Amino acid sequence: MKTIGLIGGMSWESTAVYYQLINEAMRERLGGLHSGEIVLRSLDFDAVVRLQTEGRWDAAADMLASAGEGLVKAGAECVLICTNTMHLVSAPVAERAGVPLIDIIDETAEALKRAGIVRPLLLATRYTMEHGFYAERMKRHGITVSTPDEKGRQRIHDVIFDELCQGRIDAQSRSDVLGLVDDAVRGGADGVILGCTEISLLIDPDALPVKGFDSTRIHADAAVAFALAGAPQMESAA
Ligand code: GLU
Repeated sequence: MKTIGLIGGMSWESTAVYYQLINEAMRERLGGLHSGEIVLRSLDFDAVVRLQTEGRWDAAADMLASAGEGLVKAGAECVLICTNTMHLVSAPVAERAGVPLIDIIDETAEALKRAGIVRPLLLATRYTMEHGFYAERMKRHGITVSTPDEKGRQRIHDVIFDELCQGRIDAQSRSDVLGLVDDAVRGGADGVILGCTEISLLIDPDALPVKGFDSTRIHADAAVAFALAGAPQMESAA
């Protein structure tokens, strides 16, 4: 199998989920005692958030690209940026890594297309919902994302940074986010993208009024597919 490189820590609450999902999928696919070959670089999220809030995306790109280079030196044969938001700087990270970067937006788009979804609601940070990089990349796949109104966008952004990234799960926040989903479905949304890697800690993508797409699981599954592509079926040691 190939070695998966994870640029994580954004936040570690969701990186822990990636680690679990990748290893569970490996066990499911290969059986017995098999697990993933993984190299993880976990960043200090406070430093990343500081650059985000100051709009210093070039410095953030450099930080993540250096992390990606380190992963490749340590044996990674692909790189994942374990956050939707930081795909804002995926191009320089991919270029400097020199190995395939498994893009969370492209992988989510492929999942949407397989399900025939073309007008999904995007739940994410304000950066992801407002900066344009996410919607533009989805557009290339023929998918038009919608977002909540200004107040709703601020609410979900705050829930992500003030609660989920700090390990807090709040019932009122869950009901507020589900309210945003209901509004969007009434407005014609045909699916929901959990476009922030922590949102599945709060809401179950399989318990929504329309089909939900958990970007964390989709991304982790894509990494496993890459790692196992062309690999001979291994015999379990157990
Ligand atoms: N993990 C989140 C995401 O998927 C937000 C954290 C960040 O700002 O990177 O966008």
